[in-house]
Amino acid sequence: MSATSSSSLLQVRQLFKHYGSNVVLKGIDMDVRAGQLVSIIGPSGSGKSTLLRCCNRMENASSGQVLVEGKDIYDPRSNLNKLRERVGMVFQAFNLYPHLTVLSNVALALTKVKKMPRAQAEKVAIDALRKVGMEHKADARPAQLSGGQQQRVGIARSIAMRPALVLFDEPTSALDPEMVGGVLEVMRELRNDGMTMVVVTHEMGFAKAASDHVVFMEDGVIVEQGHPDQVFGSPAQARTAAFVGGIG
Ligand code: ADP
Ligand code: MG
Repeated sequence: MSATSSSSLLQVRQLFKHYGSNVVLKGIDMDVRAGQLVSIIGPSGSGKSTLLRCCNRMENASSGQVLVEGKDIYDPRSNLNKLRERVGMVFQAFNLYPHLTVLSNVALALTKVKKMPRAQAEKVAIDALRKVGMEHKADARPAQLSGGQQQRVGIARSIAMRPALVLFDEPTSALDPEMVGGVLEVMRELRNDGMTMVVVTHEMGFAKAASDHVVFMEDGVIVEQGHPDQVFGSPAQARTAAFVGGIG
């Protein structure tokens, strides 16, 4: 393995995805190195969610390559369950099980997928809940929590698996405005702990301040990517300027 590929946890190469005749990803190239927080910004319908979903095979790309820790995830020999252990996902809609406690929601995949004994899984789950400031709600049900608290549990569920990287698809878009800051703060702390993260977001302040690298997508292509100071401060492309100017 070359030095370049070993330092990139995620490598996306010439990725295409079509739904019928609708080409929604048109040759995406992107690298995420260990410990980086990469934000993906862009208008609705530009292919951001599809790109994330092709990186853990919730969707299958039409062509191109995705390497996670140097391994081609589209290789027919690659193990999907192992891949999903390595690549966590946090959704806009939390997707917690309503009938399970917070603790059980976080422990579930540890016992089912990682085959951890229940006691050990609960210990790991409590540690993850502590990281997101939710250990005091371990025995609550999701419905008893605010949206922001539910999303923090969603994040705990993902990091409890000790993934190599976590993909976030608009993690704060479903939240009341007063809940957004707390979730973004948890994400900043994870980043400071060295977690590798790819975050699709409309929170331009967060993308600007917390990212190592920003990717601006429009209509299935990466229009521009670079350091946040460059993408937000002196964009090279008029389309980027129009987008970040309109929001940021
Ligand atoms: P974004 O997340 O940037 O809003 P998406 O990745 O959700 O964009 O969607 C990109 C395009 O792909 C849109 O035109 C959308 O309608 C289309 N698309 C997304 N998912 C599907 C699907 N399962 N079937 C057909 N078209 C889809
Ligand atoms: Mg989306």
